[in-house]
Amino acid sequence: MTNSSPKLIILFFTTITIIFSISPISNALSNCLLTPDLDLRTDPDAITTASTDYGNLVRRSPRAVLYPSSENDVVELVRLSNGCPTPFGIAARGHGHSVRGQAAAHGGVVVDMASLGRNGSRIRVSWEELRRRGRRAAVGTLSNAGISGQSSFFGPQISNVLQLDVITGKGDLVSCSEEMNSELFFAVLGGLGQFGIITRARIVLHKAPTTAKWVRLIYDEFSKFTSDQEHLIMKGYGNGPNYLEGSIITDKSPPNNWRSTSFYSPSHQTKIQSLLKANGGILYSLEFVKYYTNIHEELELMMVKDLRFVPGFSFKKDVPLFDFLNRVGSLELEEDNDEEEAHPWLNLFLPKSQIMDFHAAVILNLIHTQNQTSGPILFYPLNRQKWDDRTSAVVPEEDIFYTLGLLHSTKRSESHVFENLNKQILEVCQREGIRIKQYLPHYESKEDWVQHYGSKWATFQERKQKYDPRMLLSPGQRIFTPVMESDF
Ligand SMILES: Cc1cc2nc3c(=O)[nH]c(=O)nc-3n(C[C@H](O)[C@H](O)[C@H](O)COP(=O)(O)OP(=O)(O)OC[C@H]3O[C@@H](n4cnc5c(N)ncnc54)[C@H](O)[C@@H]3O)c2cc1C
Repeated sequence: MTNSSPKLIILFFTTITIIFSISPISNALSNCLLTPDLDLRTDPDAITTASTDYGNLVRRSPRAVLYPSSENDVVELVRLSNGCPTPFGIAARGHGHSVRGQAAAHGGVVVDMASLGRNGSRIRVSWEELRRRGRRAAVGTLSNAGISGQSSFFGPQISNVLQLDVITGKGDLVSCSEEMNSELFFAVLGGLGQFGIITRARIVLHKAPTTAKWVRLIYDEFSKFTSDQEHLIMKGYGNGPNYLEGSIITDKSPPNNWRSTSFYSPSHQTKIQSLLKANGGILYSLEFVKYYTNIHEELELMMVKDLRFVPGFSFKKDVPLFDFLNRVGSLELEEDNDEEEAHPWLNLFLPKSQIMDFHAAVILNLIHTQNQTSGPILFYPLNRQKWDDRTSAVVPEEDIFYTLGLLHSTKRSESHVFENLNKQILEVCQREGIRIKQYLPHYESKEDWVQHYGSKWATFQERKQKYDPRMLLSPGQRIFTPVMESDF
């Protein structure tokens, strides 16, 4: 668990906007939802938006969408479901950045959490806004973990939460923290929305200088790349970089991509392309950032002194911190502009002791050989000591573990190609005994979930029984609730 003292703390409030009920809800659910107080919509716009997500791979339609004007509306909805002879599923939906329908509630009610942010008197939180302010968080992310290049130093976002307001599956609104209602607090963090709906979070933020030295080093050998990544995170936040990630470069996953479109100049890209060709079509890119007000040239040299990148393949930029944090651009625009774009992502955690096996079996034999991945391929280490085992999140049981992010973008009609690659990767890991954990997990069967949670399963189940005994919440995760299939 991180001990870093908070320098700046912000309260994220949930908020408001009332959207009028457009048409009546016409089935068994309607009797339970007959209430003048709630702003529920059943029109095609509302239903269509709530039926899909960023992945654009599955479509699961709710019966209605709630646009809450306050947390009391959410409490009322949960209580209505509890009082219903056949309770309906309820899914909080943040930005719908899931890729497999995790924020869906097939035949139930989706709660549009963003509408809590539309009241001018309160603060609306979005990825975009947090990037703009130099801070990162999104509430749905707290249901997963929230990782980035800063997590090696500060842990995931769920290690940086001070207090939450949560509406449990019984309809109780509870404030919780490490000291107060701590079981619920830790259950909800990384809990995939299973125990409660977060309506407010107090999160530690770290004040940062205004300028960033942004560095990328290119490697032709995986072992040098990973040992240098580890070397840098071991230096710690003060002596080493403030942000560290890494990625794999192939023909289909070029050095410039949507996560940072303008890092390399055209001449740098040509230079890297030549090296890529000479190295058989695969390279590794270590990326780090040092925030500074005044940086000494000496300090800069010290940081890369012992690293074993390909000579002449070190690239750096000095940018305003805002530009670095804002490098990803607007997702909302991308989604709106291309409805047919699908994102069959696969995110894994894998133990350090098995990364060489993983490299041979998956990165070289599948990803490189098939050369299909279209989009960034992230690969960087995380430090388990910065994760709190009391949360619901699961990670490999080694001090250092790596994350692989295959952030595929494709036409929906071609998504099966990537789905197939993802499936092969999981099968190879199973066959070779590589002890991966999925991040942003998606499983088809209860057995897979039990295996995923391992020694945490019993606690996970007990907490579900305690906080959401009627199994109402986040049914789209498909852990406790079998979901009627309704994919594209
Ligand atoms: C372009 C892009 C970049 C990303 N970058 C990162 C990254 O850098 N690091 C990282 O860790 N992840 C990243 N993610 C993944 C992201 O963390 C997850 O997709 C997360 O679920 C997004 O939050 P959301 O609010 O949109 O969740 P949704 O998709 O809306 O919901 C996800 C799950 O959380 C539940 N949920 C939503 N809101 C609440 C709530 N208020 N209370 C309780 N449960 C809730 C939902 O019911 C659902 O089960 C990225 C995703 C995208 C699309």
